[in-house]
Amino acid sequence: MNQYPSLQDKVVIVSGGTRGIGYETVRGFLQNGAKVAMLGSRQETVNKALARLREENASYPVLGCYPDLQSETEVKEMLDAVTTQFGTVDILVNNAGVSDATSLYDYDDQHFSDVMKINVDAMFRLTRLCAGMMKEKGKGAIVNTSSMVSLYAQRSGSAYPTSKFAVNGMSKALARELGKDGIRVNAVAPGIIGTDMVKALDENLITAMAANIPLQRLGKPEDIADAILFLASDAASYITGAVLSVDGGFVG
Ligand code: NAD
Repeated sequence: MNQYPSLQDKVVIVSGGTRGIGYETVRGFLQNGAKVAMLGSRQETVNKALARLREENASYPVLGCYPDLQSETEVKEMLDAVTTQFGTVDILVNNAGVSDATSLYDYDDQHFSDVMKINVDAMFRLTRLCAGMMKEKGKGAIVNTSSMVSLYAQRSGSAYPTSKFAVNGMSKALARELGKDGIRVNAVAPGIIGTDMVKALDENLITAMAANIPLQRLGKPEDIADAILFLASDAASYITGAVLSVDGGFVG
């Protein structure tokens, strides 16, 4: 993982941190000397990820939490735990997300709403509750995980691209609003990354998409983690409101 000296001792929250892109992001921040609150949806998966990290380095400063991101009370309790342990929050990575491939004809409103709730509402809630702490310090960085489908859409599962277009919109809107408070807000738009989420998609779909990638390979979670670390670090101190494609040139 690349080294960004400005990340040393920073306090970072990473949602969806227990596997895939989020897990590599947590690792990357820890390898850069940051203190990390790793969020997951279940105690079991959080504990498993913590054990993996501790195997790598027993003294990593990492706290595992599993708040229900739909509950303001639980998110606030998590923030209390993070500030009690680490003092503050400097960086928020909104990475938790679910994909979807449902045909329009098979959707019902609840299903559509469930995708929006995790991919958009939870992102807004976490951001809203963290931004105040960043404003007090006059400095903060928020990085949201979007997707190439936020630029390109996809052939089914319209809730997913709809939610990721919203992620880009929220990132740009809040970049404008929060710039005066010293808070930068950016998004990364991963291409096809070899994680559990992609492995669950139809294999023919994956093969067809991979064949069109100019760099001729699927992305690795580390590719995305590195872009997130860059945008969170002072190396990107004049970048806000950007949606950075990290997709091997697929969307361009
Ligand atoms: P993943 O399925 O491996 O991990 C998703 C993470 O989100 C997990 O840690 C999970 O605990 C968390 N999560 C899911 N639902 C949750 C809920 N209800 N409450 C709390 N946490 C929840 O996925 P990934 O591929 O690493 O995806 C991470 C992000 O990257 C997502 O936002 C996804 O949309 C985006 N993305 C992934 C790809 C890809 O190719 N894998 C491409 C573009 C964008």
